[in-house]
Amino acid sequence: MNDRLDQTARPVLVLNAGSSSLKYQLLVPESGEVSASGVIERIGEPGSDVADHAAALRTMRATLAADGVDLDAVPLRAVGHRVVHGGPDFSEPVLIDDAVVARIESLSPLAPLHNPAAVTGIEAARAHFAVPHVAVFDTAFFSTLPPEASTYALPRDLAEQHSIRRYGFHGTSHRFVSQATAELLGRPVEELNQIVLHLGNGCSASAIRGGVAIETSMGLTPLQGLVMGTRSGDVDPGLHAFLARQVGLSIDEIDTVLNKKSGLLGLSGVNDFRELAQRVDAGDEGARLAFDIFVHRLTHYVGAYLAHLGRVDAIVFTAGVGQNSARVRAALAEGLEGLGISVDPDRNEAGGGCFSHAAVISPDGSPVVVAVVPTNEELAIARQTADLVR
Ligand code: ADP
Repeated sequence: MNDRLDQTARPVLVLNAGSSSLKYQLLVPESGEVSASGVIERIGEPGSDVADHAAALRTMRATLAADGVDLDAVPLRAVGHRVVHGGPDFSEPVLIDDAVVARIESLSPLAPLHNPAAVTGIEAARAHFAVPHVAVFDTAFFSTLPPEASTYALPRDLAEQHSIRRYGFHGTSHRFVSQATAELLGRPVEELNQIVLHLGNGCSASAIRGGVAIETSMGLTPLQGLVMGTRSGDVDPGLHAFLARQVGLSIDEIDTVLNKKSGLLGLSGVNDFRELAQRVDAGDEGARLAFDIFVHRLTHYVGAYLAHLGRVDAIVFTAGVGQNSARVRAALAEGLEGLGISVDPDRNEAGGGCFSHAAVISPDGSPVVVAVVPTNEELAIARQTADLVR
């Protein structure tokens, strides 16, 4: 009994290692209580004091100590690592050992920016903390996509040889939000058909039938699908050849244009949605068009997922834009009354339209519930980590 009590009070450290950053959060999965969080940036960059991820962990330890959290005294339960790409290998969180690290590393061709950084972070943390380490994959929730949804119409040999398929990303968030929506509605997730719209800097949509993902907008990489802060989302695949042949761009330049210089930024000059909204209000036509394209693409996916699901119980907005932009939510619902989709303006704009708690924003009795449900990827990773080491 006492052991059990102790166990549930012990925190999990969640780490998200990027190529030049390390985000961390120390929290208790059962209560959600966060005792510390932060981010260390510019790792390995010229002029930075933080040479690598091992140094970043030392910086984290020192920062926490300065804030009164002594990691040597904290009875850490486990470390949960966010890993972007699980490729075809990982459909669930996994306890990390040398073989798992090697497999994550071997998936680097699929996520050249992300997986090598995750491996560096994992290796540094394993050397630093003698507790179980768990990898939680951004792709895992979408391993259930049926073959007709996950397969590109490419030569099968080529696709199979190189593991080219649609994987989907933001899975931890889509899973967490779909479960939280079921809680909000007081219904089992198995009974609900949901469309989840994760709209942050990166944006993705998913169709979830009874808690199981059947479609999502991202693909082999996080570039496919919706318009994002700096990513184009869907373009004609023929664009790449056009840009190479007609404009003379190299593959790397094309990659940079589509990932870093497109989306809202490419269209309007800003990628922050707050700034975009201000410019729309000021009558900026480029900003207006960017907003309209963003909503148009969103509508496109919602329409497709309505058809795939056949019946939709809930459409759910989450992440920075989804939780905070009443304008986007209203624009999506506009004209969809005939499909049973609408938002109540008072509910949508409550608290300035910024939601830190889950709430229904459709009118009572609507055939489709429209809701805002805050995502919490750290909590989701901490819970999955705790489940695995329990
Ligand atoms: P990330 O994908 O980096 O986790 P977030 O989920 O934090 O991103 O979302 C970031 C986006 O949310 C930015 O475009 C930001 O402008 C937008 N955002 C944050 N607050 C608001 C707000 N009050 N109104 C509109 N957009 C907002």
